[in-house]
Amino acid sequence: MAYGGSIKKVKLDKECELRVEVALDGPLRLRLLSGTAEIFGTELPPEIWLSFPPGLKFAVFTWYGATIEMDGNTETDYTADETPMVSYVNVHAVLEGRRNRAKASATDTDDSQGPRVIVVGPTDSGKSTLTRMLLSWAAKQGWKPTFVDLDIGQGSITIPGSIAATPVELPIDPVEGIPLEMPLVYFYGHITPSANIELYKVLVKELAQTLERQFSGNAESRASGMVINTMGWIEGAGYELLLHAIDTFKATVVLVLGQEKLCSMLRGVVKSKGNVDVVKLQKSGGVVSRNVKVRQKARGFRIREYFYGLTNDLSPHSNIVNFTDLSIFRVGGGPQAPRSALPIGAEPASDPTRLTPVTINRDLLHLVLGVSYAKEPDEIVSSNVAGFIYITDIDIQRRKITYLAPCAGELPGKFLIVGNLTWVET
Ligand code: ADP
Repeated sequence: MAYGGSIKKVKLDKECELRVEVALDGPLRLRLLSGTAEIFGTELPPEIWLSFPPGLKFAVFTWYGATIEMDGNTETDYTADETPMVSYVNVHAVLEGRRNRAKASATDTDDSQGPRVIVVGPTDSGKSTLTRMLLSWAAKQGWKPTFVDLDIGQGSITIPGSIAATPVELPIDPVEGIPLEMPLVYFYGHITPSANIELYKVLVKELAQTLERQFSGNAESRASGMVINTMGWIEGAGYELLLHAIDTFKATVVLVLGQEKLCSMLRGVVKSKGNVDVVKLQKSGGVVSRNVKVRQKARGFRIREYFYGLTNDLSPHSNIVNFTDLSIFRVGGGPQAPRSALPIGAEPASDPTRLTPVTINRDLLHLVLGVSYAKEPDEIVSSNVAGFIYITDIDIQRRKITYLAPCAGELPGKFLIVGNLTWVET
């Protein structure tokens, strides 16, 4: 049965991939007819039709040859016989060796720590894709690597504006992504780190410390190690943030995608640190560049998915509460101290982690807020968040606020964090 388009059979030779961009006007179905193939590290089940949403860009790669059947329209689809997959899987093999060594070591020594891999490179170099493959290949071998996502611009674990970590126990589903069980999430509230660089660093540190605590009691997670995805901002302050992340997470392997200069700069710096390997990897020719508009749209989709699910399978709840029921805080920024109030020679600076209570008014409309686990306001910066709410109405006269939450009932915490992450529901 056709699905709107025509059925097309594609025969892939060994080590080739079929690169697909699904049409914007409808889903695409695809199945593996014979042989074996994978999408970004996750094997396709034989014969079963899988549905891919409009606009999705992906590749079906085969190590030994496969026949694929496609049903529906695509923006583009073509076969490529030149891919960097062999070099990627070689990295995976080295990481496997290190995991096995870590597992064999006595617990609670440094040797029992598996590889801590950080993937860096410019925007659209395939960082998220490589991260995904390394995690899925490791999960397939039975490891439980920790996925750390420091990319506040896109976010593969939760909504943009956050940094997060989650163990990966199964190869990542090519359509559904990471199951949203209980990820460890810190809400930054902005989609660029330049909004408050110091706060970004503080949150990265909090995330790293929490993971360190979790690892210390869990030999399996320790040996499996982590794979860290980063932002595409690699110049100036962006570069400093990469160094900060490498240090803070005690990365032992730095994978640099498609940037000679970044690679040699990092090699120069980490040489002094001893056992950190900096490895340059080729960018895949299949990586699709996304312009500002496409990225913006992807962010919106991600937020929508948080509340409604990928296929509208979730039913978020709309709640109405009094202004006095919510305590909303903004972190950092705020008015600077006037020069006259400072000692002579001191420069006015805003405290990056200062908390400012937010007065509820219509400026909050369409903002996405983080629900903190903090018990007291002074714990807000160092606390992770339970989830997010979205402000849909503010009634100044009746002093009522309407918000969308993933589920009904009371919020899991009473302190909310606001930045400038907005979303307009479509
Ligand atoms: P980055 O994380 O560096 O910004 P991504 O890994 O997100 O880059 O890749 C950008 C886009 O290219 C994504 O939509 C991804 O699905 C797509 N992509 C990556 N590799 C391939 C490939 N080999 N074939 C087709 N599309 C790809």
